[in-house]
Amino acid sequence: MAIDAFANQFVCDLHAYEPGKPIEETARELGLDPADIIKLASNENPLGPSPLAKEAMREAIEKAHIYPDGGGYRLRHAIAERQGVEMENVVLGNGSNEIIELLCHSFLNPGAELIAAEHAFVVYKLMASLFGAGYVEVPDPGFVHDLDAMAAAITGKTRLVFIANPNNPTGTMVDEAALDRFMDQVPEHVVVCFDEAYYEFLETPPDTVKYVREGRNVCVLRTCSKIHGLAALRIGYGLASKGVAAILQKARQPFNANAIAQAGALAGLADDEHIERTRAVNREGLVFWQDAFRQRGLNFIPSVANFVMVEVGDGDAVFAEMLKRGVIVRALRSYKQPAWIRVSVGTPEENQRGLAVLDEALEATGFKAG
Ligand SMILES: *Cc1c(COP(=O)(O)O)cnc(C)c1O
Repeated sequence: MAIDAFANQFVCDLHAYEPGKPIEETARELGLDPADIIKLASNENPLGPSPLAKEAMREAIEKAHIYPDGGGYRLRHAIAERQGVEMENVVLGNGSNEIIELLCHSFLNPGAELIAAEHAFVVYKLMASLFGAGYVEVPDPGFVHDLDAMAAAITGKTRLVFIANPNNPTGTMVDEAALDRFMDQVPEHVVVCFDEAYYEFLETPPDTVKYVREGRNVCVLRTCSKIHGLAALRIGYGLASKGVAAILQKARQPFNANAIAQAGALAGLADDEHIERTRAVNREGLVFWQDAFRQRGLNFIPSVANFVMVEVGDGDAVFAEMLKRGVIVRALRSYKQPAWIRVSVGTPEENQRGLAVLDEALEATGFKAG
């Protein structure tokens, strides 16, 4: 008998997350030089990590033989101060993805339900199935979360609602007034998670940390993987009401946030200059890509984040043609959008090359816009 029969069926049935294709893997498979490949596939910071973070991490390497501060005192303290909350409201994660898992581990069981938008970040669905819970997908017309419909979907079985704001892969957001109206309708037995991985890119960021201060059952997720340019370190954090935070703290491993990551995050989060520089590069890049799509008559979803979703006919084919030419983007079949790709904003040079290669790929696949 196959060993699967004796394993946890929720684990066996899980479809693993499909990440952006790594540069090294692409180079190996296509016989290209890794230095000639650009990755516009995982919404990373094209400027790299903050110089202050790099310096702090170099120092931290000297103490790599000592276990990290599992309580994350310095980093949690700094985050709490910056966000106007208390240390007890801050939970560190091995990437904010770990905190998504901790929320599901803590609040889901078979019989419980998680609510998310139809085109939400796919990890929520994977985590709901990992814990055997029901996944309630609420339609999001125009690729924007419909918070009134999401509130109406709450039942006695609902334990978690995920609001990705802005959402990935759509790049759309909901504003603070809509969030307030939603929160007015949420009962006490439901924990609302605002996944704000791209928060720092927003021109008009909605305040959700106020719900944490008000003691509502919420968890605001932030990450060092995007604007802070520390995706390889795997560190993110949750801002949660004290009750929710205490449960998440119990569910995590003792040393889930490693010492190098804590040091890099501490320095990186305070590097306002690097953040501002990144925002400027992104602002310019978003305009570049969206203008280019408009000029070509390509259908795209206007984005407030650091990536844009665009319709290209056959997303897998365009992805493959671009890959051959050394540019990695993201096909969106796993989001049930086979006609679309998602392009992350790069440096001006990367954007130029990415666009030239996209044009070649559209030509090669015979896609006609409009
Ligand atoms: C990138 C991303 C994250 C961040 O994941 P990390 O585990 O912190 O690297 C979280 N949520 C969404 C919606 C994202 O796109």
